[in-house]
Amino acid sequence: MKVFLGGARGSFPVSGEDTLKFGGETFALLIEGEDGTQLLVDAGSGVQRLRERLRPGATLLFTHTHLDHLIGLPALTECWPAVMVSPRGGLADVLERVFSPPVWPVRLPAAEFAMPSEPFAAGGLRVSWREVAHPDGCVAYRVDEAAGGASVVVATDIEWQAMTAEEQEGFVEFARGAGLVVFDGQFAPEEYGERRGWGHSTWGDAVEVGGRCGAGRVWVVHHAPGRGDGELEGMGRQVGMVAGGVEVVMAGSGAVWSCGG
Ligand SMILES: [Zn+2]
Ligand SMILES: [Zn+2]
Repeated sequence: MKVFLGGARGSFPVSGEDTLKFGGETFALLIEGEDGTQLLVDAGSGVQRLRERLRPGATLLFTHTHLDHLIGLPALTECWPAVMVSPRGGLADVLERVFSPPVWPVRLPAAEFAMPSEPFAAGGLRVSWREVAHPDGCVAYRVDEAAGGASVVVATDIEWQAMTAEEQEGFVEFARGAGLVVFDGQFAPEEYGERRGWGHSTWGDAVEVGGRCGAGRVWVVHHAPGRGDGELEGMGRQVGMVAGGVEVVMAGSGAVWSCGG
């Protein structure tokens, strides 16, 4: 299994000299199985970086349909996903509304809107999910590959501190032993108090989750739009000091993970 991060920014895309290291593209992530199966998780503007790798016929898993997670969809015309999944339902209606004049002049290309039961298989990959705390709702995904034993959990747009102890423990079990956990860390711990209820976590939460579920590595994502490279690097150093035995990094566009490496 390989994982390619197309965009790590949250809320809306940004650009400029101060975003060159971590990138300004919003969330999009590609999971590729040993058998070539491709699962795209969300379609933020980061899909631009994945287009060369993405083949037509992939499955697109939506965590939710906030704008920053589907704003890249129009860029996928030449590698349009064959199947789109949103466990929360209503996906076709939402996308029809986006792909309609005067919002967008191109009508929604054909795709199968699947409501599979959980877990489901896509090639050699097994996909499961879990509801997480976020305004309008959101799911986290877990993808396991029997061949090679790789597993990745993608939990962007999750407000960890809005979840009960029981919900947190359920998530920890869900993510147990994943080689890679991709986790929302939009805020610094000291910023959270004023942003409670916004639907996002802190890098401190990401460190806690990584430790509790025994992750091999944690990618912190959904960086605040106004956060420049220097600030993110500084946060990365703080994270490194408190993360203990878990490798937790501030992830940027272009990051790649492969099982065992
Ligand atoms: Zn988001
Ligand atoms: Zn959201």
